Amino acid sequence: MHIAQRTSVFSESVIREMTRLAMLHGAMNLAQGYPDFPAPDFIKQAAIDAINADINQYAITWGSPRLRQAIAAKTKRSYGLDLDPDREITVTCGATEAMMAAMLAVVEPGDEVIVFEPFYENYVPDAAMSGAKLVFVTLHAPGFGFDPDELRRAFSSKTRAIIVNTPNNPAGKVFTRAELEQIAALCQEFDALCITDEIYEHILYDNHVHVPMATLPGMYDRTITISGLSKTFSVTGWRLGYILAPAELTNAVRKVHDFLTVGAPAPLQEAGAVAIEQGDSYYPELRAMYERKRGLLLSALRESGFSCHSPQGAYYIMAGFEGLAFKGDDVAFARHLTEKVGVAPVPGSSFYRGAEGSRFVRFTFSKSEETLAEAARRLAAGW
Ligand code: GLN
Repeated sequence: MHIAQRTSVFSESVIREMTRLAMLHGAMNLAQGYPDFPAPDFIKQAAIDAINADINQYAITWGSPRLRQAIAAKTKRSYGLDLDPDREITVTCGATEAMMAAMLAVVEPGDEVIVFEPFYENYVPDAAMSGAKLVFVTLHAPGFGFDPDELRRAFSSKTRAIIVNTPNNPAGKVFTRAELEQIAALCQEFDALCITDEIYEHILYDNHVHVPMATLPGMYDRTITISGLSKTFSVTGWRLGYILAPAELTNAVRKVHDFLTVGAPAPLQEAGAVAIEQGDSYYPELRAMYERKRGLLLSALRESGFSCHSPQGAYYIMAGFEGLAFKGDDVAFARHLTEKVGVAPVPGSSFYRGAEGSRFVRFTFSKSEETLAEAARRLAAGW
């Protein structure tokens, strides 16, 4: 049986494999980043209303007018960017499809695409399927800063794009304006695009501020901004993402999106519009909720001997386990925690190419306080 070569360079998602393992062993699933608590009533009710109103057929391929309008208004209110919902916004099946569609739309096979390491696991298969050659730039633990010289060396005439994920999964880093300016200057010098993954834009701590790359001088025209509703409104299973980009890029992205998926679920898009229209009063609540959860998991992990850098945004902790004197690598340790302790993380190596990841496991705190408390009890009981 012939299997296409492009599938051989990546494996199934380790994150979802850890979810299956957690279920098998009755472990608290701190592996996959999705909430185990209810979505807000206002978004659920809006979805029920949309189905009852018979919004049950395909939406316009690039997104229902009300949702694109709501995204445009929110982007204006939050970041001062003026977007034309008819020409510059595309609704996708989650940020996952958005990244794939963006890469397929702009990358020629053999083009170089820069990513920071640790990286979100999807970027590797996205590169394989679009033919991109990834070039890695290290975010140095524990603070996850980058070396500007290393970044400059990564750029060349072959660079088509750089992927910037801020707030960052798994590092919890929120890129500062100064860091983004360094990236922006290189994009302009080397005529490269910036593809951003801003899915955690509203999950921020300690007065960290989210700066969209598209708002930097000279960057709107060369930035493809990806975000979505999954994390902000705790609806990861609804598959609602979106892409903001200048009209020429949007045209290309929309063609790819159309033939990949036709479109995101129509009634859920209506509910998404209602949610975004009401978002401003809800975002502070979301932040406060995650700030509490971050505190609970950080203290549980630190008390159990993990070394953790406190995340500035998103909802993950990269936890170093060298202090625990476990004999084995991150994969063995993640399995051990899942099977014997009853708490499932993701092995750090899923986010790195090389050996550096094997010092870490990643835990998510996107879980109810009961789940986090039970995980803390199990960790405290010893491993
Ligand atoms: N974004 C979530 C995470 O990083 C879920 C991703 C996934 O299912 N692969 O855990």
